Amino acid sequence: MITDNDMNHLRRCVELATEALEAGDKPFGSVLVDDSGKVLREDRNRTNTVDATYHPEIAVAKWAAQNMTPEARAKAVVYTSGEHCAMCSAAHAWAGLGRIVYISSSKQLSTWMNEMGITSTSPINSLSIPEVAPDVPVEGPIAGLDEEIKALQQRSFQKG
Ligand SMILES: [Zn+2]
Repeated sequence: MITDNDMNHLRRCVELATEALEAGDKPFGSVLVDDSGKVLREDRNRTNTVDATYHPEIAVAKWAAQNMTPEARAKAVVYTSGEHCAMCSAAHAWAGLGRIVYISSSKQLSTWMNEMGITSTSPINSLSIPEVAPDVPVEGPIAGLDEEIKALQQRSFQKG
């Protein structure tokens, strides 16, 4: 179940995704929140401005692995604008992090790309989080906010 607090963190993910797009990166953003609801880390996609593996989901997982106890990681939540890719799902699971709440699914992203006639250039298979990390609790998509992500993705595709 999605609380008002969850929605606040998800809205921040939309802001981070917007910031990424405006900086020339892909529109994805993530927030790492501890057990008490405190934001520990946030990041955005930097695949054009840093390197091709710089997804925010793996960035916050690595930060958690380096800076949090295993107990704290297990209770932490990662909010994200788009469902984790296989690389990021794996990093999340290896870091022993807790719940993931995503706004839009990988399946939605594929559908939106098809609608726009965009051919995926992803070098990896599109897998859902449970296909990669079956023990991670997952919630999403989030109706309403997913339309905002769709609009950002469409802007990103139009940029080429
Ligand atoms: Zn990823």
